Amino acid sequence: MNKIKINKIIIASNNKGKVEEIKKIFNKYEIEILSLGDLNIDIDIEETGQTFEENAYIKAKAIYDLVKLPTIADDSGLCVEYLGGRPGVLSARYAGEGATDQDRINKLLDEMKDAEKNKRNAKFVSSIVFIINKKQVLKSTGECFGTIALEPRGSGGFGYDPIFLINNNKTVAQLSQEEKNKISHRAMALKNLEKLLEMRVNIDEYHK
Ligand code: IMP
Repeated sequence: MNKIKINKIIIASNNKGKVEEIKKIFNKYEIEILSLGDLNIDIDIEETGQTFEENAYIKAKAIYDLVKLPTIADDSGLCVEYLGGRPGVLSARYAGEGATDQDRINKLLDEMKDAEKNKRNAKFVSSIVFIINKKQVLKSTGECFGTIALEPRGSGGFGYDPIFLINNNKTVAQLSQEEKNKISHRAMALKNLEKLLEMRVNIDEYHK
């Protein structure tokens, strides 16, 4: 198989946490990683997809069309079994425009107030789409399973982390960044992407 050469990648996000996590996996290669901020691109991309993968593709494609360089985008969210998979792709918009993480957590706990302990299964999902060029696109998904806590705990992480329990023990907000990066949905998706890249992209020559 002919491998592709890449020396620059654009991350279609302004979320600092996401950008850092994605940068980390390319750290060992001589590949320049640029975020939208680095390129002074300020764009509001409408996420009209029905799935995380569709939304990740929409974001990656919008930026790829602008810059014509290899582009990575991620779309992620929380799916709760008791709520039929909601908030899902609407995780960021679950409590409306301008709402805070705390508003979203309060709304979710309120919707879950009658759910017993064994009915609180949930998962975080992250879909990553990497548009390498007009013809080649890599897609990868990662999931992290847990349950919804009865009340928020911990101050780390972001979003729904304070109410997402791992092993019915600690919430993700009670983990260190390093611990979260070992088990998170985004870390899993990035690991899968890395495997795909090693098969398809000639990154050996970019090793530092
Ligand atoms: P996105 O920026 O469209 O992918 O929106 C993702 C939304 O899902 C965020 O606003 C968070 O509310 C939630 N989310 C995604 N990843 C995480 C995570 O690692 N922890 C907690 N919440 C997350």
